[in-house]
Amino acid sequence: MTDTPELAHFINNARVAGTSGRNQPVYNPATGAAEKTVALASEAEVGNAVAAAKAAWPAWGNTPPLRRARILDKFKSILWDRADELAEAISAEHGKTHDDALGEVTRGLEVVEFATGIPQLLKGEYSESVGTGVDSYNIRQPLGVVAGITPFNFPAMVPMWMFPVALATGNCFILKPSERDPSASLLMSEWLAEAGLPEGVFGVIQGDKTAVDALLTHPDVKAVSFVGSTPIAQYIHKTGTENGKRVQALGGAKNHMIIMPDADLDMAANALMGAAYGSAGERCMAISVAVPVTDAVADALIDKLKPRIETLKIGPAADRESEMGPLVTAQHRDKVKSYIDAGVAEGAELVVDGRGFTQKKQGYEDGYYVGGTLFDRVTPDMSIYRDEIFGPVLSMVRRNSYAEAVDLIHGHNYANGTAIFTRDGDTARAFAKDIEVGMVGVNVPIPVPMAFHSFGGWKDSLFGDHAMHGMEGVRFYTRIKTTTLRWPTGQRQDPQFTMPTLG
Ligand code: NAD
Repeated sequence: MTDTPELAHFINNARVAGTSGRNQPVYNPATGAAEKTVALASEAEVGNAVAAAKAAWPAWGNTPPLRRARILDKFKSILWDRADELAEAISAEHGKTHDDALGEVTRGLEVVEFATGIPQLLKGEYSESVGTGVDSYNIRQPLGVVAGITPFNFPAMVPMWMFPVALATGNCFILKPSERDPSASLLMSEWLAEAGLPEGVFGVIQGDKTAVDALLTHPDVKAVSFVGSTPIAQYIHKTGTENGKRVQALGGAKNHMIIMPDADLDMAANALMGAAYGSAGERCMAISVAVPVTDAVADALIDKLKPRIETLKIGPAADRESEMGPLVTAQHRDKVKSYIDAGVAEGAELVVDGRGFTQKKQGYEDGYYVGGTLFDRVTPDMSIYRDEIFGPVLSMVRRNSYAEAVDLIHGHNYANGTAIFTRDGDTARAFAKDIEVGMVGVNVPIPVPMAFHSFGGWKDSLFGDHAMHGMEGVRFYTRIKTTTLRWPTGQRQDPQFTMPTLG
């Protein structure tokens, strides 16, 4: 592994080689080739990044918000200009199609746009005359050094859910990206430096559990933002809070889409194709469960979906015609296939089987491809229903009424996103109001909130109190301070031993 380039850390506005002696391969999922390695940081290397951030914080925290915003504005322009370059770096390690990667960059960039409005967002509240001659105001102040730990499936967007808001509010930020696709983090850190971000304000530490644990226990890290699978989110939340940190930890998902009998079925079928098979199902907002209400709706949907799943264009990002790419690693491909085996064994009806898909394009035969898969007559006890598969596998669970469909959703542990397809306003309104899920779509299959709203699920999809970006992000990365003030007027007050009141 020594003859391949090693991707490592970024501290004080410069790339820094790994010194731990540990690294692991980074694969191109489209070809199956290990083209690079990534350094895995030691606790000491994490300490170096935290020390650099801590040293930078007094000046950065005191920089006027408008100046911070201007640096982010410059970064935004760089991102627009080099979106293609970033998208190519994402596809080369994640496997998603080029347009999908560009979409990811754009959704991340929108959070940067949001964060450039920080002077307005940080405006405090002032109350005159809370008592005679007494005024009161509150402001939001940054926390200090904060960290973000991110998953493989959005190596640019998910970090950008975090660091633009963290930096704009005056914190220094350390990113620990997924070890499976580390390049995007390094490009973004170089572009932040180019935009004028002072040394130490943003750092990247590559690594695995060792680096994560070092961040979770470091006394100078004040808050941790995490996005990834639910077991790790639980671990991060528990360990981080035990170590006195503010923690937001977003976990896994199993997103249901109800299709009512009055829905526009062509619209619903199109939505399902994109939401179930886009990005090979490796999205926390993917629809992995279709819930048609009545057998007639289920049968009609299958007629529409089956031929389209069978003819999905599956290939590398280099082929701009590809609709779906490979899975991220060979292990993940094998896991997805084993879930399909389990679904068959558990008695679900396999309508389209993606296990046998082979990639014939020259040079890509060894990529980690699985074909689009559709199960019908899935029941809630099956593992393909209960578990997050994170692959191009759609399960259909038939229900006979709206109430039964809602009960199904409420019975699941995950509650990240959900959608309903209907033309009926009453049903749509009741669904949006009553469903116990964090993000809801009405005739919108992947209801990812815009940057100025906030992203986060309920139940086992989020641990902690704050969702990401929007005002929730501003609240997470700041703490409130309230000042009550009176100016001496020459009038002395006698000592007062009772609780002060207005009277
Ligand atoms: P993951 O949980 O395996 O890894 C996420 C991060 O945690 C990585 O940086 C990884 O290095 C680190 N990590 C992994 N194992 C660890 C351990 N034992 N101790 C400490 N740190 C550890 O997730 P992934 O496979 O990279 O990403 C896919 C998952 O992320 C899916 O479950 C998906 O639903 C979820 N996800 C959720 C959202 C959301 O907003 N809720 C968004 C994107 C992805």
